[in-house]
Amino acid sequence: MELALISDVHSNLPALEAVLEDAGHREIFCCGDIVGYNPFPREVVELLQKRGVKAIRGNHDHAVATGDTGWLNPYAAAAAEWTMAVLRESDAEFLRSLPEGYADRRFKAFHGSPRDPLYEYVYGDTPDAVLESFLGEGGILFLGHTHIPFVRRLKEGIVLNPGSVGQPRDGDPRAAYAVVDIERGEVELRRVPYDIDLVAERIIESGLPERLAKRLYLGV
Ligand code: ZN
Repeated sequence: MELALISDVHSNLPALEAVLEDAGHREIFCCGDIVGYNPFPREVVELLQKRGVKAIRGNHDHAVATGDTGWLNPYAAAAAEWTMAVLRESDAEFLRSLPEGYADRRFKAFHGSPRDPLYEYVYGDTPDAVLESFLGEGGILFLGHTHIPFVRRLKEGIVLNPGSVGQPRDGDPRAAYAVVDIERGEVELRRVPYDIDLVAERIIESGLPERLAKRLYLGV
C-alpha cells in the first residue's frame, strides 16, 4: 500500500497539479500549509477537496483561518492578508476544520512536531534521542514546515519530511513530495518540474511581494 505524502503546498496550483499527476491513483496525505505565499488559494483548496486529500493544519493555514498573522515574517504576513481577502467563506471553513495532528494505525503526522504542532522546525540533523521521543512507541511519523526533505531511520521507526510542493527551500526548485510504502517501510523522495513562470507572473499581477516570485526559481 503506497501513500503519496505532500506538504507545504502554499497555494501553488501548477506545482500541486504536477505532483498529483505524478502521484497517480495513490492515497494522498498533506502535512499542512495548504495556503500562503502563492496566488492560487481557492483553486488549491478546491483541488485538495475534490481529490479527497486528508490534511492537517499548518501555521499559515492557522494564520489565515484565525486572522492571527503575528507569528509570520512580513512577506508571509502580507501573503496571509492577501489570502484572507480572496478566500471564499467555504474555503476558510475548510482551513478552520483542519486538526493540528493526525494519527491512525499506519502513521502519525504533524506540521511542526508532536510537542509544538504548528511552529517547531525539525530538520534532518535532529539528534536521534529527540526523534525517538517524537516517535514514542514507534511506527512512522510525517512532518512538514521546514520545506526541506529528509528521511531518518531509527530503531523505533521512521521520521520523514517530504519537502515542499509549492515553495522548496533546499536549492532544487522542482516540487517535492514523497511516496511511502508503509508496510515495507520504504520511502522515495521525488521531485517534479512545473511551470514556475506561470506562478511568478500571477504573483506579480496579484500584487503579492515580488520576492515570493524570485525565490521559486532558486528553490530557497
Ligand atoms: Zn510552509
